Amino acid sequence: MYQNYKDKEVNPRSPINKRKIEKLLRQILIELGENPDREGLLATPRRIADMYEEIFSGYRIEAGLEVSFSEETDSIIAKDIQFYSMCEHHMLPFYGKIHIAYIPDGKVFGISKLVRLVEKYSKRMQIQERLTKEIAGEIMEMGVKGVLVIAEGEHLCMKMRGVRNDSVILTMAHRGIMENKEIRENALVLLYNAKAKIRSI
Ligand SMILES: [Zn+2]
Repeated sequence: MYQNYKDKEVNPRSPINKRKIEKLLRQILIELGENPDREGLLATPRRIADMYEEIFSGYRIEAGLEVSFSEETDSIIAKDIQFYSMCEHHMLPFYGKIHIAYIPDGKVFGISKLVRLVEKYSKRMQIQERLTKEIAGEIMEMGVKGVLVIAEGEHLCMKMRGVRNDSVILTMAHRGIMENKEIRENALVLLYNAKAKIRSI
């Protein structure tokens, strides 16, 4: 019944096996002391399997950033991109906002592409530090002069259990010329003072 990930013939990008997930969830309900056949729980494994397809869809997103060409040379800011992710240590949600500032190198990205990129890396098993780095890494690879990504996340695994810490976790990743403290600080001022959600796209 148990399958090693190495036995999976298909790569993680292939569709998930919802029937198998349903069976395993049913088993978890039994182990918790529940009756999976009672009315309220009967459809729960199926609902969760359907939900997993959606909230773990990041593995199957190919979010190549479409570009348009621009003479823009100032920082471009995309603020308050909502994300929902699942902590890989506890399989509980963490969620919040991601802010992206980048300095273009002749091309700019549409906001919907940046949102898609956030989904690609958030809708999977994740930790916030890696989420932040992966988004910054992919934007950098697409050819910008520098990028700064900030994530503000609340973690249910910290709120519901353990130390019951309610704080918001902040993580930051910078690449390229954003490694320069002065340039990064300018971007941070823009980010946190930006009245408009998106200054320029
Ligand atoms: Zn956790």
